Amino acid sequence: MFSTLEFKEGDMKIEMKEKVIIFDPDKCSGCRICELVCSMQHQGEYNPKKSFIRIMANEETGVYIAIQDVKCDFCNQCVEACPLDALSIVGMEEAIIGRKNVTIGSFPIPVSSVIEA
Ligand code: SF4
Ligand code: SF4
Repeated sequence: MFSTLEFKEGDMKIEMKEKVIIFDPDKCSGCRICELVCSMQHQGEYNPKKSFIRIMANEETGVYIAIQDVKCDFCNQCVEACPLDALSIVGMEEAIIGRKNVTIGSFPIPVSSVIEA
């Protein structure tokens, strides 16, 4: 169940209903199974460059981050496929409350246009 969260600033009010993908870099091994599953689910081919989630490595630190394409429909396939439970999908409210309670660890992944045409 994904609830809404209301934000106010002066006369402006927005309701956030979005879900977010939460990524845990401490668990991710960089196997890229999530990319393969997403690209097959949505593009009909195993092509990480066409996945709506992309895993990127920082070579100096060995830390991975995940990037989510704006076209992601939160189908949950990547979450189910991840062998290390590094991904989860939650409502925005849960993400914000979770972020308030931790200073390091899991975080909502950035959203961008990452797939190649
Ligand atoms: S998020 Fe999971 S499936 Fe994706 S690269 Fe990391 S460990 Fe592999
Ligand atoms: S939840 Fe998004 S990133 Fe994951 S498989 Fe579905 S469309 Fe792809």
